[in-house]
Amino acid sequence: MNRALTGFTSTIFAEMSALALATDSVNLGQGFPDFDGPQSVLDRARQAIAEGVNQYPPGPGSAVLRQAIADHQSRWYGVGLDPDHEVLVTAGATEAIAATMLGLLEPGDEVVMLEPYYDSYAAMVSLAGGVRCPVRLEPPSFALPRERLAAAIGPATRVLLLNSPHNPTGMVLSADDLGFVADLAQRHDLIVVTDEVYEHLTFDGVPHVPLCTLPGMAGRTLTISSAGKTFSVTGWKIGWVSGPAELVAAVRAAKQFLTYVNGAPFQPAVAEALALPDAYFEGFRASLQAKRDRLIDGLEGVGVEVYRPSATYFVVADARSLGYADGYDLCRALPGLCGVVAVPLSVFYDDPDGARHLVRFAFCKRDEVLDEAVRRLRTLR
Ligand code: PMP
Ligand code: GLN
Repeated sequence: MNRALTGFTSTIFAEMSALALATDSVNLGQGFPDFDGPQSVLDRARQAIAEGVNQYPPGPGSAVLRQAIADHQSRWYGVGLDPDHEVLVTAGATEAIAATMLGLLEPGDEVVMLEPYYDSYAAMVSLAGGVRCPVRLEPPSFALPRERLAAAIGPATRVLLLNSPHNPTGMVLSADDLGFVADLAQRHDLIVVTDEVYEHLTFDGVPHVPLCTLPGMAGRTLTISSAGKTFSVTGWKIGWVSGPAELVAAVRAAKQFLTYVNGAPFQPAVAEALALPDAYFEGFRASLQAKRDRLIDGLEGVGVEVYRPSATYFVVADARSLGYADGYDLCRALPGLCGVVAVPLSVFYDDPDGARHLVRFAFCKRDEVLDEAVRRLRTLR
């Protein structure tokens, strides 16, 4: 096996979802909803299949979806994009991240990224020959540590890879943070890649602001998102990347040899989803915020200490409040003890020391499933 894959042979999500199945546990590990997206969107995919949209779509993605992505960026953020040169459809955000790293990095290029990081970042930087430079977010706020971010940048730094809203902590970069990042990127002439897959899942009125909207950033930012989270269709794997034509062309060059194209009948359906009225986005955000509160109330009710997230599908908890110093030990034991699955945060760090006690629970589940998880956790007390 390629040595770059050392340490990346199995993902925590595969391991914990297999454990959930084997033990008939409530799976609050892997972040996928246990409910379907909007009926009209599902129907549109069925209709596309019936109409024969079943062969390879165009390389950069179907024209209707690229236009819908450009319209979405304009409607929510006032960003103007040329759908023919500044938008690329990918097999989920995962392929967008992979193709971005393969398309941009040369051996030895350094990528500064927030830690804990979504697991594919580390694997893809490694496969692309890059070197990762993690900058750690610390509880309780997991706020951007500006001085340490600035200190992580050196002569070999080429890319800043950000994720806001942030998986797994639920942190959202503030306007001041974004200004700081924009200044840093311009001073050091960096490309910034922003993973915004949770863009519509912020709570308590916290706004999501894409970095590309800051002065001077449109020309050096690649923005990644996907349909999975916003429309509860994680299995469709329709993602996208947008930004300046020259950078998008580099990502496209890599993408064409990874999957070439993907998901033909899902593309018109996602185009329709992106054009849903504001009420859909607001309603979904409110329902997830209520799920966050429901799970947090339940966890706190059984004595679990949590860090309240401002966004995403996830809440981070302290395994020590369940009697475990190590979150991995807790996550391995929990299915057998009471039939609940969570994931340890340690797998999202280069060096997890100091963060081994943290675990993540997903709340993108039906209310009765969240309640059942809490009921089971109560039997531990
Ligand atoms: N980035 C982050 C931060 C994620 O949490 C996920 C998946 N949950 C992805 C990327 C991958 O998205 P997709 O399923 O569209 O590939
Ligand atoms: N992004 C999802 C999570 O963080 C899982 C996606 C995957 O299984 N790779 O749980």
